[in-house]
Amino acid sequence: MAAEQTFIMIKPDGVQRGLIGEVISRFEKKGFYLKAMKLQNVEKSFAEQHYADLSSKPFFGGLVEYIVSGPVVAMVWEGKSVVATGRKIIGATNPLASEPGTIRGDFAVDIGRNVIHGSDSVENARKEIALWFPEGLAEWSSSQHCWVY
Ligand code: ADP
Ligand code: MG
Repeated sequence: MAAEQTFIMIKPDGVQRGLIGEVISRFEKKGFYLKAMKLQNVEKSFAEQHYADLSSKPFFGGLVEYIVSGPVVAMVWEGKSVVATGRKIIGATNPLASEPGTIRGDFAVDIGRNVIHGSDSVENARKEIALWFPEGLAEWSSSQHCWVY
């Protein structure tokens, strides 16, 4: 059983537009395992920490305002190649360049309102999971994986 994990966040627009179930459904049906999930509002300083790598970008201020504008759903998903495959399920950063069939390709048009975040590497996933879930993750029995792996 591969134990690769990724951090996925449904952004405030995705929550407000009623896309929580749609996002969870796509990751579940693919064969990934939900390891942690919470709905929460985040502080500006926390959003700045999550997006620290982008602090020099001109859109950084607007990005932080967007993330703190309403509740987000923070999740950890686990499974084979879940980081790269999660990024494929999500689609390109700019929704106008995202393929139909991806979450951003199906549900968004604006790069500043692109519904969902997914870690871009195993290393960044590890950091983001530690930041968002210091309390730890849920345990699944390995026998529950046998229909997929
Ligand atoms: P991704 O979320 O696909 O990993 P990035 O890490 O490059 O993309 O950017 C993080 C987030 O910042 C994007 O998902 C998007 O919400 C926002 N963003 C990126 N580029 C722009 C831009 N040019 N204008 C406005 N917002 C942007
Ligand atoms: Mg990114």
